[in-house]
Amino acid sequence: MKVDYHLHLEEGPYSLRWLNRTNIALNHFDSIHEKQHTREWLNKSMERLMLRIQKGAYDPSWIDLYLQEAKRKGLSEVGIVDHLYRFKETRSYFEKYLDLSSSEIGMKQQIWLDQVMTESMEDFVKAINEAKQRWAAEGVTLRLGIEADYFPDSDEELKDLLSCYEWDYVIGSVHYMYGWGFDNPDTQEKFHQYHLEELYHDFFQVIEKAIRSKIFHFVAHLDNLKVFNYRPDESLLLSHYEKIAKALVETNTATEINAGLFYRYPVKEMCPSPQFLDILIKEGVTFTTSSDSHFPDDIGSYVDENTKTLLKKGITEIATFEKRNRIMKTLG
Ligand SMILES: [Zn+2]
Ligand SMILES: [Zn+2]
Repeated sequence: MKVDYHLHLEEGPYSLRWLNRTNIALNHFDSIHEKQHTREWLNKSMERLMLRIQKGAYDPSWIDLYLQEAKRKGLSEVGIVDHLYRFKETRSYFEKYLDLSSSEIGMKQQIWLDQVMTESMEDFVKAINEAKQRWAAEGVTLRLGIEADYFPDSDEELKDLLSCYEWDYVIGSVHYMYGWGFDNPDTQEKFHQYHLEELYHDFFQVIEKAIRSKIFHFVAHLDNLKVFNYRPDESLLLSHYEKIAKALVETNTATEINAGLFYRYPVKEMCPSPQFLDILIKEGVTFTTSSDSHFPDDIGSYVDENTKTLLKKGITEIATFEKRNRIMKTLG
């Protein structure tokens, strides 16, 4: 079977770029007949976008576009996992661990947090649980997950935040180093402040801590620090790769092949990198496959390619998740 266990619903910042991307997604499913860039075309587009925004992030009509595309791409199981920082309930957690100081980066991050933290966890859980039945009737299994940012020593607070709902699985992610969101294009100049080898050393330590916290059913995009192409020679990273592989095996934690950086970021490479993937496979790590899509037309992106890669390397089973249990299913 083919699965996509890592995708997101609507997410800010709500820029005009976001509006344009939303329009592209809507058009993918129902293209406007008026000639492009005419006044009539713009009127129709604006009407439709207005409706989309009014209905909100968790409207069934938006969630079911993901279903429509999942069916078209032959996905059997899908996991939706909004980011923890989307939810107002988590504000104090992010205020504690992010740099929101009056420094330039701190101010940018404060603005960003206010732009993206707009929803409630309860609404998200309710919307996905209701969608499960609709999806099952169409032959696609939908799972409820969440992508949780891990910070060193945030274990207890994170467990508390996650304890209120019956997740099918929890993804652990590292998107921040020393309180800095390194995958935000607006703050990427900060890479120049660091010695890359040291930065990667510290990063993999946080990843290892996340794995060993045993909070997560899988740990996502294990080498996403490469997002903007700041990476030392990979031969210097192999010992880190080995350490991460061992931690995953010892804690029986899975990971993913995630296509997000491949089709949406400058590095244009899957996570993990080919060398990292080989080490993980050699050590016997368990995988799932992910598009890390943020729009319904991107669901399942590169899942076929990554499924083939795993099969070629001798992997025959894929990790799926239900009620916090990992269930291995036949791949392909
Ligand atoms: Zn992520
Ligand atoms: Zn994600």
